[in-house]
Amino acid sequence: MAIQLFDSLSRSLQPLQPSQPDGVFRFYNCGPTVYAPAHIGNFRTFVVNDVLRRLLELEYGKDKVKHVRNLTDVDDRTIGQTQKEKRPLAEITQKWTAKFHADCDALNCLRPHVEPTATGHIREQVDMIECLMQKGNAYRAADGSVYFKITSFPGYGALSRIKERELKVTNAVADADHKDSVSDFALWKAYKPEEDGDVKWTGPAGASEGRPGWHIECSAMIKKHLGETIDLHTGGVDLLFPHHENEIAQSQCCNGTTFAKHWYHSEHLLVDGTTMSKSKGNYYTLSDLTDKGYSAMAVRYALLSGHPRKQLNFTLDSLHAAESALKHLRAFHAALPASGGDEAVFAPVFAALHDDLNIPGALGALFTLVNRGPANVSRSALDRVLFVLGLKLDEPAAPKADIPAAIADLAAKRWAAKQAKDFATADALRKDLTAAGWSMLDRKDGYSLEPMKK
Ligand code: AMP
Ligand code: ZN
Repeated sequence: MAIQLFDSLSRSLQPLQPSQPDGVFRFYNCGPTVYAPAHIGNFRTFVVNDVLRRLLELEYGKDKVKHVRNLTDVDDRTIGQTQKEKRPLAEITQKWTAKFHADCDALNCLRPHVEPTATGHIREQVDMIECLMQKGNAYRAADGSVYFKITSFPGYGALSRIKERELKVTNAVADADHKDSVSDFALWKAYKPEEDGDVKWTGPAGASEGRPGWHIECSAMIKKHLGETIDLHTGGVDLLFPHHENEIAQSQCCNGTTFAKHWYHSEHLLVDGTTMSKSKGNYYTLSDLTDKGYSAMAVRYALLSGHPRKQLNFTLDSLHAAESALKHLRAFHAALPASGGDEAVFAPVFAALHDDLNIPGALGALFTLVNRGPANVSRSALDRVLFVLGLKLDEPAAPKADIPAAIADLAAKRWAAKQAKDFATADALRKDLTAAGWSMLDRKDGYSLEPMKK
């Protein structure tokens, strides 16, 4: 049976299926904004999407799923952070990208096949904005910014039903922003020296130099890496409006074809009844919790313990419960024969996942078996279940050494120097890191830090 998943556009359960003749399932998940550490609310969304990715791989085959997740490395928040810290944008975004990768690895999230950055796709964004200007869907404002004209797209509001909620148009605000209507959104933002520092690029033809708006990055990167029509687009509920509504408008007006066949939005993680968010300051990072002695796997388990389409309240008690569930699973796994048994015993687990990604339902079905005991169950069949849930049962490792802020700073500076091809500075900074007892491992897309063995 095909995977049934709630589709936010049609507001109904719909089967997932690859729509292109090559049979590859095209999956895009909006990624993090890399200006600070991601909190475990963000990771609820990424861990749920990781189970989805794993389920798609089981369904269609490992080489028949293409998963793309972006890194937002230029927007109001990243630029705001460069202003606050008086440091180059790349230094800040590289540092938080490295932390994001380390946390994803600890939470056992599979890397997307492509992880494009907004700053690496300025050309593609400019091309798309020019396409929208030529087609009459976008206009240049007095200050040299470019806005999308929402009245030019009759389908605007279909995802969020925003028209039903009545957009309030106050022309005073529109004028202040140089746009025709307050609901028009920026595709390109003209350079403002007092706000943007040295962050600017050549703009679309006829516009000022500046930087892309946030929404256009996903439209442009999806077109480049997945094509004009994708099979599934996901993100947290807060992205439904305006981000995803705007992505649809941009992509469909430029490409003239359906953008995403299926939209899926997972609900937020709460603390004491309110959404966990950086701006509210009510958040935990993964390190906050591992520093308290909880394992990253327990955090993953706790984040998976609620239905993805329902809000989930986070408590430290849920981590205790997760550690204990993992302990039971570990003992059950160890008691199983390597092979034999009946694969079908796990059918209810997969049935729950196929039924609108009911992860707590799948965990419940799994624990019915765990509580019943190991009869008729093989380790290989359980391993398939653990794979799809992304649960690793190794004994929790001793907590990793924390990276001191001064070391993280040196590493970020060295990475920025290397990116700028200033190898003398990069080498000197590596010597400082070595002297302080840290080794820095460079990869194509970032770096990691390890304390050197004594
Ligand atoms: P951001 O880094 O702010 O762009 O967010 C990255 C992802 O985390 C997006 O898909 C958001 O919808 C999601 N997100 C933000 N806050 C929460 C939360 N409290 N619970 C679950 N997901 C969240
Ligand atoms: Zn996006």
